[in-house]
Amino acid sequence: MACQYCEAVQKKEGIIYEDELTAAMLHRSPAMPGHILVLPREHFTIIEQVPDAVVRKLAALSNKASTALLKMLGAGGTNIVIENGIGAQQQIPHLAINVIPRIEGDGLSLQWQPKKLSDEQMGMAELQLKEHTKSVSAEPEKKEPIRLDDGKAKGEAIRKSSYLTRQLRRVP
Ligand SMILES: [Zn+2]
Repeated sequence: MACQYCEAVQKKEGIIYEDELTAAMLHRSPAMPGHILVLPREHFTIIEQVPDAVVRKLAALSNKASTALLKMLGAGGTNIVIENGIGAQQQIPHLAINVIPRIEGDGLSLQWQPKKLSDEQMGMAELQLKEHTKSVSAEPEKKEPIRLDDGKAKGEAIRKSSYLTRQLRRVP
């Protein structure tokens, strides 16, 4: 099998929660201890390909994963991050939502240097985006996946956490 995450899901390697559409597993190269990946069971590379029903499930599962991390680690917060596409430094071509527990002074930096834009640049961006987003609520649900080529990668074993499994089973 070509995809590391598909293989992990199929072999149940490091999987701490799964249902018919989604799964959660511990990141094998975590940014912080407890770093969870929430992903669709089916292979989708980017979020634009994922049916809306699966996106909703992914969002709900990410919320549960975050809740589990806050309770387990007493973290001050979580970062919930998607590297969506090669241009966003996505390493493995299977969509995954990173849920990273944060503790004050943990040294992890996800901050960016703010850009200074002119009023004209801001106005232009706003105008263009509004044009594209005004019809969002009227759009039909995206049900059928768009197919792209599978990426390459291999599966690796990940440790399990019974606490997280218990927490994540509470997904509706
Ligand atoms: Zn995959």
